[in-house]
Amino acid sequence: MLTHIYTKLLSFYGDLHWWPAKTPYEVIIGAILTQNTAWANVEKAIANFGGELTPEFVTGADIEKLAGIIRPAGFFNQKAGYLKAVTAWYAGYGCDVQTVREQQPERLRDELLSTRGVGQETADSILLYAFGFPAFVVDAYTHRLCSCYPINAGKSYAEVKTYFESRLPKSTEVYNNFHALIVINAKEHCRKKKPACDGCPLSGECRRGLQRP
Ligand code: SF4
Repeated sequence: MLTHIYTKLLSFYGDLHWWPAKTPYEVIIGAILTQNTAWANVEKAIANFGGELTPEFVTGADIEKLAGIIRPAGFFNQKAGYLKAVTAWYAGYGCDVQTVREQQPERLRDELLSTRGVGQETADSILLYAFGFPAFVVDAYTHRLCSCYPINAGKSYAEVKTYFESRLPKSTEVYNNFHALIVINAKEHCRKKKPACDGCPLSGECRRGLQRP
């Protein structure tokens, strides 16, 4: 079923080339900034760095300055601390993508989860989109897709992640695209209150859509 849904979404939207960032470090920063805010606000915050979005800059900037830069992303004082914490984690690997990629992903995930401001969704987003590890990202849109079909993937983050990872090919490309496709379809069609089922690539088979008048 999951492969079927993935294929349908992929043939409808195509490869979405996620994550929208210029560098792996920008992915890390974006994964923190996007917590509890819309992506448009993250883009404004990232633009405020004015080309200085580097580990060196974030490490050297004081919290007040950093908070001012990322103000559009909300919770800016808290997130400024999170940016420093995740940058310190990255600095432990010399801020070198290849060095991170040579580590065991399970260990990296544990380290990230011990880092201030990094929860499971953020950790998996960093592993998948910054470093290319096959770590499936679960978010509210994933839960919505499951409840629409329905797919009994479980309730907790770990249950849903395991459900998807155990039924899909262990592929960074598939995990990357599938999460992006779920997000775009939720934004364009499967909205929480008023889903636009007409034109949704999953209409005709998802139960929530079939039950709508
Ligand atoms: S058919 Fe409707 S309810 Fe089902 S996934 Fe598409 S938009 Fe959502």
